Amino acid sequence: MTDTVDDVDLPYDENATSQQEQIEVLQERLEVLESQNEEMRDRLLDANAENNKYQQKLERLTHENKKLKQSPLFVATVQELTDEGVVIKQHGNNQEALTEVTAEMREDLAPDDRVAVNNSLSIVKRLEKETDVRARVMQVEHSPDIAYEDIGGLDDQMQEVRETVEMPLERPEMFEEVGIQPPSGVLLHGPPGTGKTMLAKAVANQTDATFIKMAGSELVHKFIGEGAKLVRDLFEVARENEPAVIFIDEIDAIASKRTDSKTSGDAEVQRTMMQLLSEMDGFDERGEIRIIAATNRFDMLDPAILRPGRFDRLIEVPKPDYAGREIIFRIHTRKMNVSDTVDFEVLAELAEEASGADIKAICTEAGMFAIREDRTEVTMTDFKEAYDKLQRTDETDVTDSLAFA
Ligand code: ATP
Repeated sequence: MTDTVDDVDLPYDENATSQQEQIEVLQERLEVLESQNEEMRDRLLDANAENNKYQQKLERLTHENKKLKQSPLFVATVQELTDEGVVIKQHGNNQEALTEVTAEMREDLAPDDRVAVNNSLSIVKRLEKETDVRARVMQVEHSPDIAYEDIGGLDDQMQEVRETVEMPLERPEMFEEVGIQPPSGVLLHGPPGTGKTMLAKAVANQTDATFIKMAGSELVHKFIGEGAKLVRDLFEVARENEPAVIFIDEIDAIASKRTDSKTSGDAEVQRTMMQLLSEMDGFDERGEIRIIAATNRFDMLDPAILRPGRFDRLIEVPKPDYAGREIIFRIHTRKMNVSDTVDFEVLAELAEEASGADIKAICTEAGMFAIREDRTEVTMTDFKEAYDKLQRTDETDVTDSLAFA
């Protein structure tokens, strides 16, 4: 079709013999123009919708950009509310300062409250209680509910984790007698959803240890001094709950290779990492606390954290191979009512690029297909359709967690 009406021929045909013919020609032209008009309107609507989408994206990015440009705030504690203003004590340097606040903010404040202050020490906002922050960033589980049998296709990795984490926790005297120090920290690296968290949980379960999980990303973008303090808190919680397995997920968030930019945000990340390293260097080697870290971005890591005495045991946790996929299918269907037609070998071959988490999602989705059709038995067709559906979702929605590609 043509984009503009200019291309439409003039409707008058000089050779037209009768008025009737001219009318017909005009009629035809009118119809063509109307249909072009209709099409243009549709395209305009589409363009408007697209425009709206980009407008929203632009707003979101502008907002994020603004947030990133903001200079970080410092943390302080309210000491006293006096007639002259509020006395605060800064964390880190322990200096006291007197600062003015609005009447509204003053009503909200009480001694011992934590507040965020800017460069000129004005109170910007009141922070939530410290315990809330801890609770949000730390997940504490006593002997988590995952056993080695729940993990498929990672026998070598499991063996290595057991040697490096379980042995020092269960038989610390062995290391003393032999005269060697157990490895300090274990680093699990590999694609998302391959069972890294599961391995850490299973070892904590096996040794009756408390599992304490913290995500590296929760430690950044916080206030100055907060990340380092949370790391100290993390080790304190571990000491209070010995034996304990500390699991730091997404360690790359605090331990990436140094970038060239020298923003204070980077400095804060550095401080958090230094705190982690010094906690690791300083802690008692007897074995009641073990540290496991995990990352999907091994290439991004600062080599400093991989030095001897730190995360010196590197264990790669890859996507499962054919045999591993079959075992994982069997694990996740253990409690499902699966028909005899289901062939796990065929499924393992089909889901060639699937991670453990993807396989779990396929099994759940297959169950959903059966439920939708009011059946209680899950068939091979359900599994195949579930696989197709999840693969389609993956193609259309990049934010989806499935990662077959
Ligand atoms: P991320 O890097 O995204 O944190 P992860 O490697 O820590 O991922 P897990 O959280 O351990 O992955 O796995 C997510 C879920 O996927 C598990 O709860 C489990 O159901 C399933 N899963 C992943 N790997 C395996 C596996 N090897 N065996 C059985 N189930 C698995």
